[in-house]
Amino acid sequence: MTTIIPLPAFQDNYIWVLSQSDTPWCVVVDPGDASVVNDYLIQNEKKLLAVLITHHHADHTGGLMQLKQQWPELRIIGPTAEHARIPALTETVGDGAIVVLPQLKQQFQVIAIPGHTAGHIAFYSAPVLFCGDTLFSAGCGRLLEGEFSESAIKMYQSLQRLISLPETTEVYCTHEYTLANLRFALSIEPDNLDLQYYQQQCQVKRQNFKPTLPSNIGLEKKVNPFLRCNNKDLQLKHNQNSAQSLFAYLRMAKDQFKS
Ligand SMILES: [Zn+2]
Repeated sequence: MTTIIPLPAFQDNYIWVLSQSDTPWCVVVDPGDASVVNDYLIQNEKKLLAVLITHHHADHTGGLMQLKQQWPELRIIGPTAEHARIPALTETVGDGAIVVLPQLKQQFQVIAIPGHTAGHIAFYSAPVLFCGDTLFSAGCGRLLEGEFSESAIKMYQSLQRLISLPETTEVYCTHEYTLANLRFALSIEPDNLDLQYYQQQCQVKRQNFKPTLPSNIGLEKKVNPFLRCNNKDLQLKHNQNSAQSLFAYLRMAKDQFKS
């Protein structure tokens, strides 16, 4: 049986670990901190088979050099478009590539999702989606590279690709931003009952120190304003005449939002 658990790191990062009960091998996603991973490996008597990297930011890649030294055979798989900024990579992959992990009888499809960074990728193996800093629960990543309007179009298109996946797709993003995202989402759609209910559920989880993640695509379509830009009422309310322009408007408004 495959299990996926979050290792909390830094303020609000999760390093996801994929493991199986009948093999010592495991895979981690975006290990910004090697010590957190090592503690897990020791406590659970696991061996590190591979690392999946969604993009080059230090809070996703900071542990790579140390892990590589400890595990000389380690596969470190990340985006071709960002290989110059992630020197530890041993394999580079782009849109449509298939990452095969025979030891775990698992394979992931690579989906290019630029926007947060220019070369950001996701790893998808139904129903599991590791999407880094692109789709968050009730939010999306900031646009940190390139010109805002161009990056906004790319991010919009990337999110469209992700929501075309089945509604049961489990969304494993890298940050516990959900409650802050929900405050913004409710400022945009205060009357959305799904949002109100979801906020209550997430508040209880956080009060009990539980992650709000993974989310899923079906839920995100109901509560995530960045996935609801084709809603004509929302467009009208914010004086926008297309889904893309509403998306750019919301992204900018979120950047300035004080919760
Ligand atoms: Zn990032």
